[in-house]
Amino acid sequence: MPELPEVETVRKGLENKMLHGVVSSLELRREGLRYPFPIGFSDSVVGRTIVSIDRRAKYLLIRMSDGLTWIVHLGMTGKFTLYQNDSELESVGGFAKHDHVVIKLESGVIAIYNDPRRFGFMDLIDTDGEQNHRHLANIGCEPLSDDFHAQALAFELKGKKTPIKTALLDQRIVAGLGNIYVCEILYRAKISPKRSAKYVAGANQQVSHRCENIVSHTKDVLREAIIAGGSTISDFAAVDGDLGYFAHSFRVYGREGEVCLGEKCEGVVKRITQAGRSTFYCPQCQK
Ligand SMILES: [Zn+2]
Repeated sequence: MPELPEVETVRKGLENKMLHGVVSSLELRREGLRYPFPIGFSDSVVGRTIVSIDRRAKYLLIRMSDGLTWIVHLGMTGKFTLYQNDSELESVGGFAKHDHVVIKLESGVIAIYNDPRRFGFMDLIDTDGEQNHRHLANIGCEPLSDDFHAQALAFELKGKKTPIKTALLDQRIVAGLGNIYVCEILYRAKISPKRSAKYVAGANQQVSHRCENIVSHTKDVLREAIIAGGSTISDFAAVDGDLGYFAHSFRVYGREGEVCLGEKCEGVVKRITQAGRSTFYCPQCQK
């Protein structure tokens, strides 16, 4: 499933080729994805200019002229592929299976949305009303923004008995963190995923060093992943959520039974299940 860095990689790829473009056609090759497409979808977007392509948590916000925002969520398997023009699309054999949405710009650029499992969705809303959209209204702060700092995190975690691992996956606490990156963040911060959120928050009136650790490692892990993803999108066609994964640099995720990579640590990575999701951690150095 694409996580925040992958969505950011897709955002940059789309922005690179579609910003300031005018939509010349929108072809819907089925009735909908996870939900039906909005009524009058094509008529609403054709002729409009793309004025910005933003991201909130794992949602892409394609802002268009005259106050319309096109929301895209990639679900489990959604991805975009970009082509310079029709002939480039023809050169790869035209449409592929699961190509559901085809966006053409006046510049000739074509963006094709492909989604085999169709858990993604698209919606149109007034730009003014973005904050109130049912999917965006209750999302916590962006982990890469300045709003995400140790005091803010401590405030959110205070008094909560839930394990820190589960708390960091809660989108109301911090936006867009998924299972893989939360495992990596807690590993780097040397904090056990089983510790309660309130323990991590620390005592009143003090800035918890544990929160500081989590915040700085969150920013590092996400930035590294975005840079890794960025290096894969230099190729025009590769705006693929999967390509953004920095799979080879996971230090703990998926390493059950293997020796911890921590310096001077001889612990063995353990896998447990928390809130129905696999957690990988080193019981030796994560306290
Ligand atoms: Zn260790």
